[in-house]
Amino acid sequence: MADIVIIGGSIMGSSIAYHLAMAGHAGDIVVIEPDPTYEWAAAPRSSGGVRLMHGLPENIEMSRYGREVYKDFANLMDVDGEPGRFDFKEFGYLFMVSGAADTAVIEENWRVQTGLGVKNDLLDRDGLAQRFPSFNVDGVDAALHAPEDGFIDPHAAVIGFRRKARSLGVEYIQDRVVGFDADATKVTGVVLESGRRVDAGVVVNVAGAWGPALCEMIGMKVPVEPMRRMTFYFETRDELEEFPLTKSPGGVSFRTEGAGYTAGWTRDEPGGFNWEVEQDLFDKSLWPALAHRVPKFESLKVMRSWAGHYAVNRMDGNTIIGPWVGGLENFYVATGFTGAGLQKGPAIGRAMTELLLHGEYQTLDLSRMSYQRVIDEEPLIETGFTA
Ligand SMILES: Cc1cc2nc3c(=O)[nH]c(=O)nc-3n(C[C@H](O)[C@H](O)[C@H](O)COP(=O)(O)OP(=O)(O)OC[C@H]3O[C@@H](n4cnc5c(N)ncnc54)[C@H](O)[C@@H]3O)c2cc1C
Repeated sequence: MADIVIIGGSIMGSSIAYHLAMAGHAGDIVVIEPDPTYEWAAAPRSSGGVRLMHGLPENIEMSRYGREVYKDFANLMDVDGEPGRFDFKEFGYLFMVSGAADTAVIEENWRVQTGLGVKNDLLDRDGLAQRFPSFNVDGVDAALHAPEDGFIDPHAAVIGFRRKARSLGVEYIQDRVVGFDADATKVTGVVLESGRRVDAGVVVNVAGAWGPALCEMIGMKVPVEPMRRMTFYFETRDELEEFPLTKSPGGVSFRTEGAGYTAGWTRDEPGGFNWEVEQDLFDKSLWPALAHRVPKFESLKVMRSWAGHYAVNRMDGNTIIGPWVGGLENFYVATGFTGAGLQKGPAIGRAMTELLLHGEYQTLDLSRMSYQRVIDEEPLIETGFTA
């Protein structure tokens, strides 16, 4: 019997385990995670970006806590006085737009973000060209640059939380949840692929893009599904300045990664798992768009590529966190992170810990992100950029 069974031990599951353990509850938790290498999990396949550039105050504040934790991660995650190795690369985030409507959106974002103390600069085309000389700024009307945003090694973040949680006494079971035990009002345990059953006082489903199928299994409907995102790592012959995590009009994104660059699209895809990488699409569509924005990308060479999956919230793109309101109320979820879960991982760990231990939020109020809005069909729309 575990007081709290956490399904999925990637960034969300391990951050929740860490925060619960730091609050003195390590012995009450079991994390069920089938793959200690996290080969297919979204977190290590992500771009690793941590940005305070959001429209909703909750998202800004979640990322602010995320940045705080990740900037001090090596120390916070030390085990037996040995800090891990972890870098926060402060290369910034940059959104470029074209057209009056999108320019008005980023101007509004700039006002909201500046009002909340986020360092971000609104640039016109000339300002952008001066800051990033390698860019072709044709077709760009305005840009928002947050120089203090950045990115991290997402695999190291997962392993850091996991290692620390385990060192504090949290048990990880290498297995997969394949079913639930429940009575009329409560979930009473989970059934594992090995045939083992684990009784539970509370179950927390943070199985990422696999989470919605687990919700379905127990009868909870979430407007979330897996959606493929392809990423390409390439190098060029030329040395260029370091690029922030840059989003170009049309949804193409790229950033510096080690000796090269990673790139992908923010674009809609059909729901469902699809691990195929379409090299053709890169050649015909992504590469020309990249070379248009950075002419020296004309000579790039793709070295690696991979697919990962968003747990995309089709209702409003935003986080759903908390108990299954109107259902089995000791069944908790944190899902729908779309393209921004890594930066929210620390804040979700803290928020879920508060909900589980105190029944309410104590630091950042995420009530607007509860399942109630799904029942009420009232989307909580992010203004400005979504990833
Ligand atoms: C290409 C790409 C780029 C991204 N870029 C960014 C970015 O720049 N910044 C950002 O903040 N976010 C980004 N994201 C989003 C971010 O990666 C996710 O929101 C985040 O990783 C979600 O974490 P998670 O722990 O919920 O899910 P995951 O990391 O997917 O982990 C889910 C875990 O659940 C486990 N699991 C699955 N089924 C079961 C089961 N039945 N029983 C037990 N365990 C199970 C899996 O093994 C896995 O370890 C990106 C995502 C992708 C795909």
